[in-house]
Amino acid sequence: MAYDYDDTNIFARILRGEIPSTPLLETVHTLAFRDIAPQAPEHVLVIPKGRYVTYDHFFAEASDAEIVDFARAVAKVCAAIGAEAHSGGKGSRAITNAGEHGVQEVPHFHLHILAGRPIGRMISRD
Ligand code: AMP
Repeated sequence: MAYDYDDTNIFARILRGEIPSTPLLETVHTLAFRDIAPQAPEHVLVIPKGRYVTYDHFFAEASDAEIVDFARAVAKVCAAIGAEAHSGGKGSRAITNAGEHGVQEVPHFHLHILAGRPIGRMISRD
């Protein structure tokens, strides 16, 4: 499966410093920043710095170091926003949309972390 990465997508531009973001955390392979249109009191996007279109692209082709770095960054974000449900936090939901059926708007893999209120049911039918 070939993945076509569009270098003009908005998250590529954030990574290049061409447009601003509100970062929470940056590591060697990963960036976490606040969603510009938050759908919960805490709405953070975690992205790899590499050129990956979707989560399955990332998990298929990223290096072990990138994948571990991404996973640890996700945990650090949850702790930073008080959402770590395994140790007293109220919890969160992590969502990643992929492609047409997943209704992905920005074609650079990103994990949404939503927290700070009850998030509701997992999916809707429309
Ligand atoms: P998705 O539909 O999963 O591709 O989600 C894309 C997300 O990116 C949406 O929640 C947008 O609000 C968010 N977004 C778009 N542009 C920006 C930006 N410049 N900074 C932060 N978040 C953004």
